[in-house]
Amino acid sequence: MSEIISNEKIDIDKLKKATKIILELQNKMKEYTSLGHGPFIASIYDDKGNKIAETANSVEKEKCSHNHAEMNVIKEAQKKLNTYDLSNYNLSLYVTAEPCMMCIGGIMWSGIKSVYYGVPSVDVEKITGFDEGFKPMWLDEFKKRGISVYGNIEAEVGKLELQKYVDEGKTIYKPER
Ligand SMILES: [Zn+2]
Repeated sequence: MSEIISNEKIDIDKLKKATKIILELQNKMKEYTSLGHGPFIASIYDDKGNKIAETANSVEKEKCSHNHAEMNVIKEAQKKLNTYDLSNYNLSLYVTAEPCMMCIGGIMWSGIKSVYYGVPSVDVEKITGFDEGFKPMWLDEFKKRGISVYGNIEAEVGKLELQKYVDEGKTIYKPER
């Protein structure tokens, strides 16, 4: 197992639960990408283990540059709970790859309390060519704001899924320079 990245002392129970959920999301990759979604999936759960929302990236499908999996799933959860502030619900966000620069902002304003991710940005960029942006010290910044982060969860499985997406010749979208 690859080494877990975190901004708190690792809680084995949280990590076990996150591993299970992230593997489930990775297993759904083909299902989503065959429907035209991008290769990133996210879900939000409450602290009792109820799934509030699950979505994939839909940038290309819906022609919107901010439709990353994390932004989509936050929007779904807020719609469902009918609030722009999720902070009273103690919610966790699970995502197959490390959040990009935009999604870090989106997560910060949403009231999400914990973030669990699979493949680190450096590997996402290496495999796919997506630009993940610049985000210095984001784990420390999240810690200051009371948001826990665990990353590199089942990253090897996630990397294989991303590689499959690239090998199938699917679109890597980014603005022209
Ligand atoms: Zn993003």
